[in-house]
Amino acid sequence: MTQSEHQAIIAQSDKFLLPLYKRAKLALVGGEGAWLHAADGRRLLDATAGIAVNALGYGDAEVVAAIQQAATGLLHSSNLYYTASVAELAQRLIDLTPWASKVFFCNSGTEAIEASLKFARRYTHNQRPEQQTGFVAFNDAFHGRSMGALSVTSREAYRTPFNPLVPGVRFINLECDQATLEATIDASVAAVIVEPIQGEGGIRPISPEFAQALRRRCDQVDALLIFDEIQCGMGRTGDVWAHQALGINPDIMALAKPLGGGLPIGAVLVNERAAKALNYGDHGTTFGGNPFICAVANVVLQKVTSPTMLEHVRSVGAELGAGLRDLGERFDVISDVRGRGLMWGVEFKGPTAAQITEAAFDQGLLLVGSGNDVVRVIPPLIIGHNDVEQLITRLGDAISQVVS
Ligand SMILES: *Cc1c(COP(=O)(O)O)cnc(C)c1O
Repeated sequence: MTQSEHQAIIAQSDKFLLPLYKRAKLALVGGEGAWLHAADGRRLLDATAGIAVNALGYGDAEVVAAIQQAATGLLHSSNLYYTASVAELAQRLIDLTPWASKVFFCNSGTEAIEASLKFARRYTHNQRPEQQTGFVAFNDAFHGRSMGALSVTSREAYRTPFNPLVPGVRFINLECDQATLEATIDASVAAVIVEPIQGEGGIRPISPEFAQALRRRCDQVDALLIFDEIQCGMGRTGDVWAHQALGINPDIMALAKPLGGGLPIGAVLVNERAAKALNYGDHGTTFGGNPFICAVANVVLQKVTSPTMLEHVRSVGAELGAGLRDLGERFDVISDVRGRGLMWGVEFKGPTAAQITEAAFDQGLLLVGSGNDVVRVIPPLIIGHNDVEQLITRLGDAISQVVS
């Protein structure tokens, strides 16, 4: 494609798409490994992975083959019937998650959160109908944009234009003290929802001690604990699930982003206790868990959670973390570097995340902000050692460009 065709795609999009996103002036046509190909011939190193979706990068041969094979079979059947790939994916997820006993499939992260909140309400409805309906969520949390998911998402700019939202939601700070937990997580609360590592909120991990305190408090009032692992889960931290580092289990876990290898799918895993509260007709979806996407997700899940892949994530993740910390030593404008595996946040004081992201774009490196001051580094999990070096070099050049 030519430069003018590249411009034409952008012009047509800007004319006909609702202006809900501030898109980079970049039209994409394909990719290979951790690199994206633009319509004008540019090659860009991708440290966004389609917002933590493209764990296997671009052009994975086994994923492409799985798609081609699944495309010749049944694409959709509805949840009125059984299909093998759906059953297999459910078992695979449960086999990877010792505390979980059942799975619900849907189409996105937001839908997985929506289902998680409803499942918690359904559970407490059996204990104390209409009384134990509230939710406790965290400042800087992000759980999605539907009315329910938005109700447990803290950012005012996302919420205010759409009020009134679901009532009875309390927001508290991560790592707050025991007194705050006791005052907010009381007998009116159906569930506490938390990301083991906040994604949109600045790559903020919760400590094992805090997770354990949450677990204890939820048990005291018979509220459920929901983990949102939509962004941090499925290999990104170097463990299968981010919460494996916390020493406790949730009752419900929401998944989505990387599961379909780029195709839309969400999943909710529930333990025995929560599963028992759910009956025919309590929730549903037309597309959720369709045999086509589940066939592909089986291949993606197997590859992403294989011991070899997890070992790779830990190894390149350590290099990435070390490289980012070196940048932190080199540049005064970096105030913090935090993360694990291939999920890192670089916090800036002075330059905004948007300024750094734009400068990185000029260096052929794609990054995404997380809040106003934090740049997220969430490359495909298959990123190689040389590409990690490239990433650090280009980010260093971008920061130099901004501070000079
Ligand atoms: C992206 C995300 C969601 C929402 O997922 P969608 O697929 O965009 O609906 C929810 N929670 C977390 C932690 C996310 O990163």
